[in-house]
Amino acid sequence: MIRETDEQYFARLLMIKKIHAMADEVGSYPISKVVLDVMARVPRHRFVPAEQMYSAYENYPLPIEHGQTISQPYIVALMTQLLAPDKQHKILEVGTGSGYQSAILAEMAASVYSVEIIASLADRAAKLLTELGYRNIYQKQGDGNEGWREHAPFDGIIVTAAAEHVPHMLLDQLKAGARMVIPVARTSHLQELRLITKNSDGTSRSAVILPVSFVPLTGGGK
Ligand code: SAM
Repeated sequence: MIRETDEQYFARLLMIKKIHAMADEVGSYPISKVVLDVMARVPRHRFVPAEQMYSAYENYPLPIEHGQTISQPYIVALMTQLLAPDKQHKILEVGTGSGYQSAILAEMAASVYSVEIIASLADRAAKLLTELGYRNIYQKQGDGNEGWREHAPFDGIIVTAAAEHVPHMLLDQLKAGARMVIPVARTSHLQELRLITKNSDGTSRSAVILPVSFVPLTGGGK
């Protein structure tokens, strides 16, 4: 068990203040105390590469291996807030990356199913999440465009890489009334974070939340 330092603990509390301040600045989407409390507990510094340790609690995205990123804390908070996981929910995450978002969701949901396309990232996150004691996160290496059919339907789906369009297999695996949070590319430079809600007749409605910048969702037969 690696004990954290006081500096790491205080840096994490400062990160919560920065998320709060940014939420105020952005306006319309306040972040709940429940989400902030969870983010105040999860040791983000364990999810970043050693050379990024001192920046772990800054409010910006950081590089991880293979040209991928761990998302900005404010964006993690916002996506979690929009997804609104609760203790009965089974959540699908596409894009495990460092495993940080999986850990946040696992603190709030019954279970998290997370798919990562890059094998070494999937392996590293699996080891770390086990070491940190998470027992309700199930992971696999694969193409998240296909979802995880054996465990569908899901009470919520979060995609942490920018899609060209909303993958239809993910919509199929979402329960009626459930939410999907996904960044979707509008042009080669512009992406928007969308909140999609599935209607009981199988159709869906989509709200644009704000402009974002994510690494691309690969796979999908490309
Ligand atoms: N949620 C992550 C975290 O907390 O660190 C951030 C993930 S990073 C922004 C996006 C991740 O999506 C990358 O690790 C990338 O390899 C993965 N990815 C991209 N396309 C994918 C696909 N089709 N299926 C699964 N994972 C994918």
